[in-house]
Amino acid sequence: MNQIIKSNYFSDIRILSGIGNKTAESYSKLCGGSRLIDILLHLPHSIIDRQNMPSISDMQDGQIVTCIVQIVGHDLSSRNMTRKNPTKIKCKNQSGNLDLVFFSNYPEYLKKTLPLNSTRVISGKVEIFGDNIQIPHPHFVTTLDDFAEFPKIEPVYNLISGISNKQFCKTVKSVFNIANELPEWIDKNYFPIESLPTFKDALLKAHNPNSEYDLESNNLIIKRLAYDELLASQLALKLVRFHVNKPKGNTSKGNGKLTSALKKALPFSLTNGQEDIIKQISNDQESTKRMIRLLQGDVGSGKTVVALFAMLKVVEENKQAVLMAPTEILSRQHFKWIQEITAQMPIKVTLLIGGMTLKQKRLALEDFANGKTNIAIGTHALFQEKVAFNNLALAVIDEQHRFGVNQRNDLLNKGQNVDALLMSATPIPRTLMLANYGDMDCSSLTEKPKGRKEITTKAISVNKIDNVIDAMKRVINSENKIYWICPLVEESQELDLKAVIDRHEELSKIFGNNKVGLAHGQMKAVDRDKAMLDFRDSEVNLLVATTVIEVGVDVKDATIIIIEHAERFGLSQLHQLRGRVGRNNKQSSCILLYKNLGKTSKKRLEIMRSSNNGFYLAEQDFKLRGGGEILGTRQSGLPNLKIANFYQHQQLLRLASNDAKDIIEKDSLLKSKRGENLKTLLKLFGYSEHKNLTISL
Ligand code: ADP
Ligand code: MG
Repeated sequence: MNQIIKSNYFSDIRILSGIGNKTAESYSKLCGGSRLIDILLHLPHSIIDRQNMPSISDMQDGQIVTCIVQIVGHDLSSRNMTRKNPTKIKCKNQSGNLDLVFFSNYPEYLKKTLPLNSTRVISGKVEIFGDNIQIPHPHFVTTLDDFAEFPKIEPVYNLISGISNKQFCKTVKSVFNIANELPEWIDKNYFPIESLPTFKDALLKAHNPNSEYDLESNNLIIKRLAYDELLASQLALKLVRFHVNKPKGNTSKGNGKLTSALKKALPFSLTNGQEDIIKQISNDQESTKRMIRLLQGDVGSGKTVVALFAMLKVVEENKQAVLMAPTEILSRQHFKWIQEITAQMPIKVTLLIGGMTLKQKRLALEDFANGKTNIAIGTHALFQEKVAFNNLALAVIDEQHRFGVNQRNDLLNKGQNVDALLMSATPIPRTLMLANYGDMDCSSLTEKPKGRKEITTKAISVNKIDNVIDAMKRVINSENKIYWICPLVEESQELDLKAVIDRHEELSKIFGNNKVGLAHGQMKAVDRDKAMLDFRDSEVNLLVATTVIEVGVDVKDATIIIIEHAERFGLSQLHQLRGRVGRNNKQSSCILLYKNLGKTSKKRLEIMRSSNNGFYLAEQDFKLRGGGEILGTRQSGLPNLKIANFYQHQQLLRLASNDAKDIIEKDSLLKSKRGENLKTLLKLFGYSEHKNLTISL
């Protein structure tokens, strides 16, 4: 144990000579930590192969090449009227001519160090303009003698300013000088590969690749490291789950009085899907095991009523339930609906949100604490320290990905063994589900309430925007309200914001000031909420908005949604947006206005047109992105992987998941010999600091 703690991998990189506080900070930013292991887990993404010496005439644009040339001319930088021209060093060999290009250098220095007629070995990335072959800012220019000493293959890393590739390579080397072998944690029964390299060996090979192949996802070396990473993440997830689950859940059997009253009060009959899930949840509630269940279902699929059945079941036993939503407007909407539908029942429903007066808040808190409130509804205000319950048995968390793990836990800790129902309108692909939640129980509402019509989706070039506006003029009225969505992304926030405001102005001119509303992220939350409510309840028939508008807000008369720059949105996001219409039994439509269509964005819009099923779209989105950058990864709380790729390593993920499951079953405290080694694994991948990982490492 002590030997593990002392292991060099966990030392701070400042123990390396030449690395002070400032450099350490850069490394830490780049590698996500300042331990030696953090450096080693930052793998190269490609290599420079100095053996790759094509003749100049064979060079391809974008290729990284090395070649031997003679310096034949100096075209020194000069300043003309408008801009500074770069310095060009003209080179040639028997296969052709090329220029080295330097933009911000010292021409005199270049002239001196690269004298005419001298021979040099140069390396860098080729750019071809017509007949001109250039290498701007070569990676190196050196003499034949010095080149002989160069490594023939150099790994290339993602870097940030302040750290050069050469420096990084050097640091990696010095880390390996002191890195020890670690006892093996892999059990070959679970990860059956032949001739398994040790962890250290695999890292060593990955940092000293012989070819690009060594860095590919299906290479043995990468697979081993990816498995390590996935196993660590699965194990961490399952350990947390195991320890959260261990306390006996409260058992709520209820007496069926309130739930049958609810059935009678509902103005609609439940879908089969809703019935099934209500039953599943009810079974969880009756069992002694603690419930942690995720309820996924498209926007408008009717999750709230399912949650209400679960809440009433605990209220039947005089216990309390809480429903937390990410915004005031959603909390209010839930409160209003639940209060109305339970009006004839002998229960008290109480709202707690930031926008209430101090007195209202105080009264709400009192009623939570003394148990008068049966169902508490609210926002983030609910997990604050001063909130206490008399007998909390169930917590429902709507749009659960909008809350952090700790926030969810703070709410769950407000009672004894509180059951949890997490709800999400963003279906998660199966693989990611496993990655994110381990084997958390999951229910999916795949069926929409009866009578809902499929939303028709069209993709139209923005060049035809006038036709779209003409069509809008014909249909818009208080029963056919229209959303107009403009993108707002962080990188070009100001430009985008201007686009939204301009669009609002333009449409106001056409449709009348009093008919057109505006909602975007830079507005105060109250103003934004007001814009939403005006759109729902008043004469405003057109709402120009960014994606900030709430997914869950129910505007029954909204029948058309127009999404500008649709090519800039991911599939899941487009689908979420589309879900804001079609919430009633009216025919609704979605118009995707596009400007520039690349191959992927074209495919995305095609898929959007072909399906209205969020689960299908989530899988397609996952495929299209190849598991790379998954939109909303941050929000969905997916583990941040350095080596493994969810898409390419799905098979490994499944193996790791089984492995982790058996480990927990046999050795939940990681006390066995393998268990000890697994603790090291967890620590290597940074899990020991996980707040909820209760195992002491
Ligand atoms: P979400 O899953 O997006 O949270 P909601 O719970 O807000 O969906 O439900 C959307 C709308 O559909 C609400 O107005 C709700 O009352 C209604 N609804 C729910 N279930 C049914 C059903 N079985 N039949 C008809 N309407 C339903
Ligand atoms: Mg909802």
